[in-house]
Order: sequence, then C-alpha cells, then structure tokens
Amino acid sequence: SNANLYAVLVAGFPQDRSQVALETPTLRYTWDDMDRASACLANLLKSLDLPRDARVAVQVEKSPEALLLYLATLRAGLVYLPLNTAYREAEIEYFLGNAEPAVVVCSSANEGWVRRLAGKSGTAHVFTLDDDRTGTLLQAAATQPQTFRTVQRDADDLAAILYTSGTTGRSKGAMLSHGNLAANARVLNDYWGWRSDDVLLHMLPIFHVHGLFVASHGALLAGAKMIWLPKLDIEQALRYLPESTVMMGVPTYYVRLLADPRFTRETCARMRLFISGSAPLLTETFNEFQSRTGHTILERYGMSETVMLTSNPYDAVLGPRVGGTVGPALPGVDVRVVNDKGVALPPGEIGNVQVRGPNVFSGYWRMPEKTREEFTDDGWFKTGDVGRWGGEAGGHPIPVDYLSIVGRSKDLIISGGFNVYPKEIETIIDEMPGVAESAVIGVPHADFGEAVVAVVVPRAGASVDPAAMQNELKTRIANFKVPKRIHVADQLPRNTMGKVQKNVLRETYGQG
Ligand code: ATP
Ligand code: MG
Repeated sequence: SNANLYAVLVAGFPQDRSQVALETPTLRYTWDDMDRASACLANLLKSLDLPRDARVAVQVEKSPEALLLYLATLRAGLVYLPLNTAYREAEIEYFLGNAEPAVVVCSSANEGWVRRLAGKSGTAHVFTLDDDRTGTLLQAAATQPQTFRTVQRDADDLAAILYTSGTTGRSKGAMLSHGNLAANARVLNDYWGWRSDDVLLHMLPIFHVHGLFVASHGALLAGAKMIWLPKLDIEQALRYLPESTVMMGVPTYYVRLLADPRFTRETCARMRLFISGSAPLLTETFNEFQSRTGHTILERYGMSETVMLTSNPYDAVLGPRVGGTVGPALPGVDVRVVNDKGVALPPGEIGNVQVRGPNVFSGYWRMPEKTREEFTDDGWFKTGDVGRWGGEAGGHPIPVDYLSIVGRSKDLIISGGFNVYPKEIETIIDEMPGVAESAVIGVPHADFGEAVVAVVVPRAGASVDPAAMQNELKTRIANFKVPKRIHVADQLPRNTMGKVQKNVLRETYGQG
C-alpha cells in the first residue's frame, strides 16, 4: 500500500464523491472537484521534472486552491513548504535562502520581489496564485489531465517542512514525514470522534500546523465538509456557526466571539466540538464560554515539530475537560516531565516537557546541530515547554495524567537564584479586578540577574493601580516573585497565531 499522506486521506473521502467537500461564501467544491483539481496541479508539478525531495514553497492568501496546491504537492511526492502571509521581503529572503525551493508560488502583488529572491536561491519556477482563482499557476494547470496516480511514498519520506512560528527566536524548518502526519491525523480522527456528517468551520490560516494539518486533515480524513473562510470575521462566523459542528480556533477567536452579544447558545445549536490551541486559553475564557453557550472548549497542545501531543478528552468516559490544562497524552504519544538532569518528575512538580512518538519530526531542516541539541540521547524531543502533571486549579485537584503547560523554558525567570514561573504570577494578576490579561517577563537586573516585570492590560473602561497590585501580590506570593515594576498597556503584542511575543515585551520594557 501507499504511505503517501494523500492516499491515506483519500481513503476517508465519502463513497459519493458528488457531495460538497468544501464551501466558501460563493463557491462549492465536491470531492470529485478536489480530486480533479489537485490532479491537474500534481500533473503540472510532475511536468517540471523535479528531483525527489524538491521543495514547493508557498506564500499565498488562503483560498480553496491553496489547499488544492498542498494536496497536489503531496500527490506529486514533493515537499510542501508553507510560509506565513505576514512575512515580507527580508523574512522571505531568509526562508528561500534556507530552503532553496525548486518552486515558489506567491501572490501576484509580490511577484516582483519574489522573482528577485528566487533568482538568488536558485529557484527555477515561480508561479502566482491569488485568492480569486487567478494567476499563472492555475493557467498552467488548466491544460493538464484531470487524473493523477498519487506517487508512491514511504512513511519516512519527507512530506512537508513547516517553519516554527518564531516566537522564541529565528524560525526553524521542522521536517515532517508522510508517516508523522498520517499517524497524528488517524489518532485525532478517533480521539475527537470525527464523523462524516461533521461540518468544520475552517477560519484558521493554512501556513501553520493548526489550520493546515490539524483542521484540514481532520475533515478530509473523516470525509466531512469544510466551510472555508479566509480568516476570523465575526459576521461570517455568526452566519456559519449555526450550520457547523466543529470549530477550531486560537484563544483570541473565542475571546472575540464572546465579545459579541449576538454569539449565544442558539448560534451553537448544531455544534459538537470547539477546540482551542496554539497558545494558552485563559480559564476565564473557558468558564465564560461554558456559561454563555453550554459548550466546554476542548484545549489541546502541540507544535510544528510534533503536530498534536496532548488533548483534553472528547469522550466524557475518558475524563472531564479541565480548563487551564491540555489534557492527557494522545494515544501512542509518550510525554514526560523531567528535571534539568533528565529525571522524570512526579505529579505536581514543574519541569521540562519531552515527547516521543510516531508523530515526532525527524529534525530541523539544515540545522543538524540544533537537531542534536533538541533530542536526548535516548530519543526524546525537548519541546522547550515547561509543564506539570496534575496539581490543582481553582482549589480543585487536576487528574494526575493531565498536563498543564506552565510556559516556555526560555521565558523562565531566574531572579536572585530562584526560579520564577511567569504563569503563576500572571494567573494571580488576571484574577484581580479590572484586569483583562497580563504578561510577566524577566528583564536584566544588576543585583538579581533578572528582575520580574509585569505588563497589565485593563478591561475596557476599567483602570488598574500598579502600586495597589504590587501590595496585594506581596501578601500572596514570595517577595522575589512580586514584579518590581508593573506597566499598563492597551494590548499585548501577538503574532498571527495569537501568541504573546515575550521577546518583544522584553525589548520594550527591558530598560527600566
Ligand atoms: P518558535 O519555536 O519558533 O519559537 P513557536 O514555538 O511558537 O515558535 P509553534 O510550533 O507554532 O511555534 O508553536 C508551538 C508552541 O505553541 C508550543 O511549544 C507551546 O509553547 C505553544 N502552545 C501550543 N498549544 C498550546 C496550548 N494549548 N497551551 C499553551 N501553549 C501552547
Ligand atoms: Mg517552538
């Protein structure tokens, strides 16, 4: 049999290929359409006669054709390399120089500078693709045959290079195989109870693990319809939620839905499952969502290098969904929490999260040293996240096999020789009256090495008093954890995946 991920996904397509697979506000694509259009594109890629493992780099606005191009790249046995649409010339120069793709597909608006950069990276083929079905890519594909025999691939063969979000530093290209992606898609299909009559409301970007792999693979493998929107637009979300059964979002999507009084229990009448990830979901959002809609958001945890690792249960038989946690390890995935010596820690103790499993990538593209650093001698991948099994939340014990992410090891603050976990302080600040959210960072300090600093965003119309907050904190936590300074800000800097950019905060507030 063929381990090519496309072959795996096709096995989940419905018998009746004339059903709608993907719908936008103006267009409908049946499963046959998906198969034929991806075949045309795969034939086009094949006609370029590229070597095995040639990269197809893609920076285009989200459209059905962008998804079809991903599927076509899989079918042709080439390596898909999606790029964040927010990246501009200097950033793309790094990615093209690093990846040396054989093909680049870009928006026609960027064609000029992309061609210039493609010249430098030795990229032979540049095509354009816009979100209105125009561009040279589709023109060239239109004359190609509508059938294509999916290229034979082994589970270990490279399917995609996914650059990490660059939250903690320069983005790294995670090399994911057909087997990595298929293993995770199969586990999630079962664990989240995907059904062929599901309707996925897809509003996430598709240059990232969340929207491209977790969401799209989920629906394709289940043979379920997707409603395909370019981004979160509240009007569109309110229009389509009532006919959807599954939605995936980053935490800010849920915050924004709750901010609209038209978002109610009725909006969610058909919904089966709301999933959150990519960044921590505030317990307050989790609780407010529950009381507004009657639905309990399922939070899960993963990363570009591994796809999904842990998830709160879908099936209540497996346990409750606990806010503030990311749930147990997924079936087949090993997760451990270790101290700096690599010794596994018991529940309640905070340490480094390490993982192993068929979903874990083989290494960073052209970064052998970095790859060696991030794997232990016995083959565990160091996620760079800090976490804890069990413990307690809001006075209630958390099941001991549930993981909570406390933060990133790079954001850990060492002040006067003591470890300070930002999340602990953020959680207390977030509960204070008038506070919408907060971020705690470490900044250089002559005596302590690092000093704790907090940035607080007040709720709309509310004001906060930093001095009073500091006094309150002194009564609740050890003095070395109390922020030396509390800054008030209108918002926290976030990247496109809704992740708070603590490196930006450290730059802004690092100098006193
Ligand atoms: P870089 O590795 O380049 O610094 P990044 O780690 O943000 O960027 P991604 O692979 O997109 O790049 O994100 C994975 C990270 O996102 C995880 O390591 C974790 O820190 C965070 N994350 C994902 N899901 C959750 C979650 N549910 N709760 C808390 N953090 C999460
Ligand atoms: Mg990372």
